Amino acid sequence: DPSHGAHDHDFSRIFGIETEYGVSVTGTARPCDAGQVAMTMFRPVISRARSTNTYLANGARLYLDVGSHPEYATAEARDPMDALAQDAAGERVMARLAMDAQRTLRETHGPDATVHVFKNNVDSEGHSFGCHENYLVRRAVPLDVIERELIPFLVTRPLFSGAGRVTRDGFQITQRADFLDDAVSSATTRSRPMVNTRDEPHADAERFRRLHVIVGDSNRSQVATWMKLATTHLVLCIIEEHRRTGGMSPFAGCALADPGAAIKAVSRDPSGRARLALADDVPVCRDRTALDVQRIYLAAAQRFVADHAAAAETILPGAAQVLELWESALEAIACGDWMSLAGWVDWAAKRRFVEAMTRRHPDIGFARLEQLDLAYHDIANGNVVPSLERHGSLRRLIDDAGVTRAVDEPPQDTRAALRGAFVARALRAGAQWSCDWTHVALTAPHRVECELLDPFDATPTDDYRNVMAALD
Ligand code: ATP
Ligand code: MG
Ligand code: MG
Repeated sequence: DPSHGAHDHDFSRIFGIETEYGVSVTGTARPCDAGQVAMTMFRPVISRARSTNTYLANGARLYLDVGSHPEYATAEARDPMDALAQDAAGERVMARLAMDAQRTLRETHGPDATVHVFKNNVDSEGHSFGCHENYLVRRAVPLDVIERELIPFLVTRPLFSGAGRVTRDGFQITQRADFLDDAVSSATTRSRPMVNTRDEPHADAERFRRLHVIVGDSNRSQVATWMKLATTHLVLCIIEEHRRTGGMSPFAGCALADPGAAIKAVSRDPSGRARLALADDVPVCRDRTALDVQRIYLAAAQRFVADHAAAAETILPGAAQVLELWESALEAIACGDWMSLAGWVDWAAKRRFVEAMTRRHPDIGFARLEQLDLAYHDIANGNVVPSLERHGSLRRLIDDAGVTRAVDEPPQDTRAALRGAFVARALRAGAQWSCDWTHVALTAPHRVECELLDPFDATPTDDYRNVMAALD
């Protein structure tokens, strides 16, 4: 098997999450803008890697483009739980950079300088930044089919994956709904801003695509991060399988007339009853509620897992729990009992917290509520989420030791294991090196390079051994 377990006919997948963070500083004796904070955070990165764009010993990519949004892209994982651990490692890495930057800034900007790093998607000026999910999908499925069948799911999954947002006009369940238009260029269809169509598979392009979902919120809840990837994975499995077996798509009746308008409606209706207009070619119905759409996807996923019962744990470790949580989320929303989701759904956790603060301080103003919203996302100096977690009000799946491990160790069953081992050794040796998702290279004294084209393959090739040997 040339591709170590990845077949055109199985359901193996590669997962990666890219998170852009927002940064700011408060309490400074003189002005300091976000760009300066981000540069201060990256000074140690530059001194180690000679660049603001580098890879880490756990296989992740850490970088700062122009502007002030540091980004962490997780190493390739085969299991949503591993992707979650890598994402949590990203929070830890960013938090460390922030605390070091804070120490530096206190020397120049006064002892009260406090650095904030927000894992969210909207800054206080109303600019939006992203959290991209990457899914390897089989090339046999045409992109327009994926879009048509996946987008109704992406538009309605904020019912359990939304991070919540306090706005002047009320509480919304997603961060991104109001900003999607930013990404629409006049020539593209309305669905385009939800799935980026740039074709960079970082793998054998004949067989695979890297689906780039750009419509999701960054999550603080570990369970929500896991569920977002796991449920989307199941939906992609169904779409891939349907492509092979033919027949009527289980999602044919969900095609939306206007996904952009639909997600805005979903975002404003935590009851799940927002009516979403369906595309003209959907027979029978003219619209469905967000909950109805979700129930169709859930039912298909339940059928799919039942049909593959013997392989379910291989297709998705924890599949049964995923389906249970998914079903219970839809039921809770249907009963108006969103509060019961506050243990893992970010928007519900945030809403409970914001409503409790409003009860305690009835004259609390919008500015303060907005601050509390931001505090929920601050991974550097925010204590809302850590305190919810400590009290057991927000469930965790990866404990501190697990996060520590993921900071140092890549997933062991993808090429990230090879990249990570290379980076670790190159850093130890003080070598000059470079890498990207599909290559590792020593650049001096002469170039020794190795391609890692198969993301599923964690087995060292001769080329790889040569690169590693050159580091001895
Ligand atoms: P940009 O920041 O400009 O959007 P990008 O989306 O092209 O860049 P990166 O930020 O470099 O890419 O992140 C790539 C993500 O894709 C990582 O999380 C990585 O683990 C994941 N990935 C790499 N190869 C594959 C693959 N073959 N299939 C799915 N995901 C992949
Ligand atoms: Mg990126
Ligand atoms: Mg991206």
